[in-house]
Amino acid sequence: MSKIGFIGLGIMGGPMAANLVAAGHEVAGYNRSRAKVDQLVADGGTAASSVAEAVAGAEVVFTMLPDSPDVEAVVLGEDGVLAHAQRGALLVDCSTIRPDTARRVAEAAAQREVRALDAPVSGGEPKAIDGTLSIMVGGAADAFAAAEDVLGAVGATIVHVGPAGAGQTVKAANQLIVAGNIGLLAEALVFLEAHGVDTEAGLDVLGGGLAGSSVLNAKGAKMRDREFGPGFRLELHHKDMGIVQAAAREAGLTAPLGTLVAQLVAASVAQGDGALDHSALLKQITQLNGRS
Ligand code: NAD
Repeated sequence: MSKIGFIGLGIMGGPMAANLVAAGHEVAGYNRSRAKVDQLVADGGTAASSVAEAVAGAEVVFTMLPDSPDVEAVVLGEDGVLAHAQRGALLVDCSTIRPDTARRVAEAAAQREVRALDAPVSGGEPKAIDGTLSIMVGGAADAFAAAEDVLGAVGATIVHVGPAGAGQTVKAANQLIVAGNIGLLAEALVFLEAHGVDTEAGLDVLGGGLAGSSVLNAKGAKMRDREFGPGFRLELHHKDMGIVQAAAREAGLTAPLGTLVAQLVAASVAQGDGALDHSALLKQITQLNGRS
């Protein structure tokens, strides 16, 4: 069993840390807002009051933070993870960040003899709670092998996809696919409603055919009922579409459908819906059609 420091106990990090505790690991958690730390203590973990305290003596350090600047501050900062991690420790960053930032973090970690992995996840809050996330891992093969046991406590599909940054590149592709799926599901719902079709029956049969998807299974009924509590906030998906677009440009690529859905996500955020679940893209499609 490992001694683990876990930083960032939000919608995803909270249940992931709890699953590590449930698997028998010793988990010290730190979060900017204290209530999340208290929840981890209630789940059997211990409280850390700083990054330094969470990292002290840890064999594995997890980070699950919103965005690239957060990871840079927490990991590379003056009083950050690398300033306090012990030699040989594993740093597993599960946040969704820019691939180039992940590579920079890995290089800085190597200089401190810390083995870094970018290990972004997919599956949302339900799979974080069940411990069945899909985890796409970038980094050295020996670091991946060393992390497989702890990752097994939070994920069901855990794949080493390449060197540092590769996990984030695959996650960007994931976010492109999910955003496009949600956009089309929203258009289909508005279409069915406009034709007066029973949308419960419609989604049911669509889910059994080629139009079926994990997005439809996870989001369809909630979208039909206009339940937009997060889940995965639109503002985070907006951040991810920025990552997709920058990485596509870097490779000299165009992603026309992704660009269109990125604009729709951006409009939803600009209109004040950033704190809603990404399925609230349906509000945007509904408005564009002059419906309510
Ligand atoms: P969240 O905002 O719920 O959690 C982030 C946590 O980090 C918060 O509790 C916040 O207080 C804490 N935090 C921020 N800065 C900090 C700092 N400097 N020090 C300590 N704690 C700090 O976000 P989330 O939904 O859990 O997402 C986290 C990451 O996972 C994001 O990169 C997101 O894109 C990705 N992700 C989210 C989902 C989802 O469904 N929510 C799914 C897959 C991936």
